[in-house]
Amino acid sequence: MSKTNVTIPFFIPHLGCRHRCVFCNQVYTSNTNTPPNEDDIINKVELYLKNIKSSVQHVEIAFFGGSFTGLDTELQKKYLAIAHEYYSKKMIQGIRLSTRPDYINKPILHLLKEYTVTTIELGVQSFHDDVLKASNRGHTVDDTMNAIACIKNEGFNLIIQLMPGLPCDTSEKSIESAHIACKLQPNGVRIYPTIVIKDTGLSKLFIDGNYIPMTLEEAVALTARMYSIFTMNNIPVIRMGLHPFANDISSTILAGPYHPSFGYLVKSRYCRNQLQNMLHQAVANNGTSTRYIIELPALHAAEYLGPHRENIAFLQNRFYNSCIQYTIAKTLEPILYAL
Ligand code: SF4
Repeated sequence: MSKTNVTIPFFIPHLGCRHRCVFCNQVYTSNTNTPPNEDDIINKVELYLKNIKSSVQHVEIAFFGGSFTGLDTELQKKYLAIAHEYYSKKMIQGIRLSTRPDYINKPILHLLKEYTVTTIELGVQSFHDDVLKASNRGHTVDDTMNAIACIKNEGFNLIIQLMPGLPCDTSEKSIESAHIACKLQPNGVRIYPTIVIKDTGLSKLFIDGNYIPMTLEEAVALTARMYSIFTMNNIPVIRMGLHPFANDISSTILAGPYHPSFGYLVKSRYCRNQLQNMLHQAVANNGTSTRYIIELPALHAAEYLGPHRENIAFLQNRFYNSCIQYTIAKTLEPILYAL
């Protein structure tokens, strides 16, 4: 399928960060040492625009990897002026940036509005103060709530970023954070299960035996539950798992549930849970001797089947008394027939 959205990303590693969060090393995760200068930005945007396919309908310039609104105001203006120029000429359709909750207030948002910023990604991470404190975030849940209210009042698109598995976090707290995030009605969320990156506070805690990361299985299962909560509330989950921006990101990871296809694993688990629930219900209604046929949506067949058809093997094992057949069909949702 051709891409319809393109993001032109710029990384400003740790610029504007007055705190070093315990899990963060943007130099490693973004594979960038230095922020771009004005020429770098223009050259990269021009290159992207020259190569963009006709199927693309929405292009955004995005500033990630630091706390954009914590930058010196003159530097913010320099970056935004370039992006705004492309936006005003209708060569791009959006300007996006990521920042921290305690770097949001009305004057800051008015500046962003002046330069036609469309989307703000907020590093919320958790809606629990003890988790924020243990992660050295340097802000509170109240700061987050105030920032979100301001962003929404001023009419920006809001993306909430959450990080299950931080120090002091539990599955219950992560699930609660997902429910709270839903109530705040963001335009989308990103879920980044915590990874132990080298040369971070978390790597020291891990080495000293004071932090145990989630296993991949735990992270997939928990993120699938969070994904389900957002999906049921019609909130798009635009990313799950760390983006492998670095060529060899695995060399910068000390421990934790990193997988290059983490999002696929989570969606596949979500689909497996859905099929399992359908089968539980069907077996409860019809008994085990009935034959079942399940039509799987062709568009999402890979997620429903699972990696190496693991989901089918899992369900076969769970419902070993039942005869279940799977077919791929042009349906939007799986359909179960009891014969
Ligand atoms: S998580 Fe955000 S605020 Fe914290 S150090 Fe990293 S870039 Fe800065």
